[in-house]
Amino acid sequence: MKDAAFPPDAVARLRLKLNGAVQGVGMRPFIHRLASDCRLAGFVHNGADGVTVEIEGGRTAEFLARLRTEAPPLARIDTLAVEEVPPLGETGFAIRDSEGGRTVTRIVPDAATCEACLDELFDPESRYFAYSFVNCTHCGPRYTITRRLPYDRRQTSMAEFPMCPDCAAAYGDVADRRFHAEPVACPVCGPRLSHPIADIAATIRAGGIVALKGIGGFHLVCDARNETAVNALRRRKAREHKPFAVMVANRASVAAVAQASAAELDLVAAVARPIVLMAARAGVLAPSVSPGLSRVGVLLAYAPVHHLLFAALRGDDFAHHDRRAANDTILVATSANPGGEPLVIDDADAARRLGGIADLIVTHDRAIVVRADDSVAQVIAGAPSYLRRARGFVPEPIELPADGPPLLAVGAHLKSTVTLTRGREAFVSQHIGDLDTAETVRFFREVVDHLMTIVDVRPEAVVCDLHPDYRSTQFAESLGLPVIRVQHHAAHLAAVAAEHRLAGPALGLALDGHGLGLDGGAWGGEMLRLDGGRVDRLGHLAPLPLPGGDKAAREPWRMGVGALVAVGRANLAAALFPKAPLATPLARRIAGGDETLVTTSLGRLFDAVAALLGVREVQDYEGQAAMELEALVDGPEVLDGGWKLEDGVLSFAPLLNHIARFRPDARLGASLFHGTLIDGLAALAADGSSRTGTATVVLGGGCMMNRVLAEGLTAALAVLGLKPLMARRLPPNDGGLSYGQVALARQLQ
Ligand SMILES: [Zn+2]
Ligand SMILES: [Zn+2]
Repeated sequence: MKDAAFPPDAVARLRLKLNGAVQGVGMRPFIHRLASDCRLAGFVHNGADGVTVEIEGGRTAEFLARLRTEAPPLARIDTLAVEEVPPLGETGFAIRDSEGGRTVTRIVPDAATCEACLDELFDPESRYFAYSFVNCTHCGPRYTITRRLPYDRRQTSMAEFPMCPDCAAAYGDVADRRFHAEPVACPVCGPRLSHPIADIAATIRAGGIVALKGIGGFHLVCDARNETAVNALRRRKAREHKPFAVMVANRASVAAVAQASAAELDLVAAVARPIVLMAARAGVLAPSVSPGLSRVGVLLAYAPVHHLLFAALRGDDFAHHDRRAANDTILVATSANPGGEPLVIDDADAARRLGGIADLIVTHDRAIVVRADDSVAQVIAGAPSYLRRARGFVPEPIELPADGPPLLAVGAHLKSTVTLTRGREAFVSQHIGDLDTAETVRFFREVVDHLMTIVDVRPEAVVCDLHPDYRSTQFAESLGLPVIRVQHHAAHLAAVAAEHRLAGPALGLALDGHGLGLDGGAWGGEMLRLDGGRVDRLGHLAPLPLPGGDKAAREPWRMGVGALVAVGRANLAAALFPKAPLATPLARRIAGGDETLVTTSLGRLFDAVAALLGVREVQDYEGQAAMELEALVDGPEVLDGGWKLEDGVLSFAPLLNHIARFRPDARLGASLFHGTLIDGLAALAADGSSRTGTATVVLGGGCMMNRVLAEGLTAALAVLGLKPLMARRLPPNDGGLSYGQVALARQLQ
């Protein structure tokens, strides 16, 4: 490596150790440039334990300041150790060759195409002009193309594409943006798209559906303003109501589809490019995009092929395309996973599974090594919160409060993720899905294997849920490792406590769908105190009948009937559920003691209320009734005397009674329910706080994805002088459970 020659102008010499996401992200050339700027001598090199830098000269303070503020976009410095060493009188600054053996210890997440690459994409003079796979050190695929450590091209699906001389020169040039960019490619040597962009655009314009291979899998894409096209997609995908996300070209184009706050715009434009829930503009999208909901999931173009497609659909020729201008095109971009199975990533698979759905299948020859769905997030109380964490965020580790032996946690059954620990780092996998199908279980195993390979640890024990019937539990038992079983809602709360590095005992509310309780019951609205490995149940929602178990979760009218019986109004079953001929017989069976299952789940209480208000009697997807109920809230209102709290048991019987008797319209009912719920839960938390002397209240569980509830409850707790903590780095639902499982298991060891 050639040294930049200049004399040192001072005597201080510092040795720096950088850890975090510091390798494979352009750190060495950045440090080289910064050292030259500050006229410092020394060297930088990658080692097995991160990046080591030595700097010598008079402007080391400036170097240290700029190291943090000007670091490359994909870099994240977690720890920086600085030590003074004797000056050597060196001249020049060098990038030293990596030490032998393993150098890159962490893979970074996939990143959206950067501004510099987009400039080249639309520059007819550039060799990357209109090239669908342009990328550099600051952008492009990472996690989804990496087979194993160390992270270099041979270990990725770019191994099949030997670099041409131009790409090799860029790769080897420290002054080039593509210095050591492992996925570097150009039209001469790199992957190719199966169809011209013009053909894809023509199919979409004609109202067709395109299966488009992207970064973490295939999307199904069509014109989001064309009801016929969106409806056809629903029919062919056999997905009746579950909302579709929409993609727009850039930040300036969001306004056409949604009323976004500044925080929502920043989140949607983040390098990870998540889908962000925003208030939909009325009358813009085809009605079938997100039926029954007031918000829509929006994401921005993030791969070069998306940008080219938006340019083509705007009718622009690539050489004269203004990529920052607002673009009217809105596309449905939904993951191609027929029947709730994992995302399609493989070309043969695409032909087989998507042939009946898509009019055109567009693929490319760069393999996706591991699938990753689009991440989904929303802004709650001004800050981001996840609904699904996958592409763009995984495998960024989340720190645990304490060190410990390597553990694998396997989550629950729905919205599955797995977590593998290495010291204090917890690597939470991408969203895997519901472990109901053989395909998803296969994907689950694939993710476990891939995670162990790229994190490079073997777990000493495996952590699972108490529920014996979960596929994840059965998988844990099959590994031949010591099995640690932890309670579902304790894990939810431990997850939130751990991400906030809360030390010591924690008090919390788990507001959730369903989980097996310590007493064998169906829990889901719990106030728990965690202390070390110990879990105390301090309170819970008043139990409601759960007639038919799982059936009640799919058919909210059953919960509605159960609620009527619980508040002594079984006689209203026929009047409130005229479309359910079984309502009265069911009410009789519950009242007669033939249906004995009960639940303290808040999710089921949402279902009951949605059913009583006529919002939803049968669900097409999990959480539908609760989401539709939330969408109806104008502003939460409290029903006076709508709840009672006795001995830690919080009952909403007065509210249910009110709804059954007076049958308010759905909007008013939804507002009353949310307001009264927030009021009652705040009182429950205050009760727990006074009993334990704890001011901090951890909030977890799937119901915390309800923004009205989350914002209302955190505000109400703050008014009471309590300190609420909610999930910020992982979803509050079962998607974050595996992280909570390791956090809890660490305390047991
Ligand atoms: Zn780039
Ligand atoms: Zn090339």
